[in-house]
Amino acid sequence: MAYCANCGTQLSDTASTCPSCGHPQQVVAVAVPRTDSQAIAALILGIAGLVFCPLIPSVIAIIVGNQARMRIADDPTIRGDEIARAGVILGWVGVSIVLAGIVFAVAGFAFSFGWFHLR
Ligand SMILES: [Zn+2]
Repeated sequence: MAYCANCGTQLSDTASTCPSCGHPQQVVAVAVPRTDSQAIAALILGIAGLVFCPLIPSVIAIIVGNQARMRIADDPTIRGDEIARAGVILGWVGVSIVLAGIVFAVAGFAFSFGWFHLR
């Protein structure tokens, strides 16, 4: 449990300002490292591209994840590089599955229409 540095009022751990005097609780704000929201979005999109609908979330996951990784590399106070990287990897996996599916579908059509002659 935290106490206000200004007036000593007991505070909840999540309070950003003192409810009694309005003094900002800077110690709490600094102690919680930020995880990049786009890194989390990239991971969610990467999973969505594999589970819910193909290709589009995967492509967005790669773009958003790479943007997040660049921002995280620039700012050491932002965390989530491994989350963003996982999103990018899942995005590429999703794209690879779609591309493999297209190749198999085209090959299947090609064989069924007799474009290839097996001898
Ligand atoms: Zn206070």
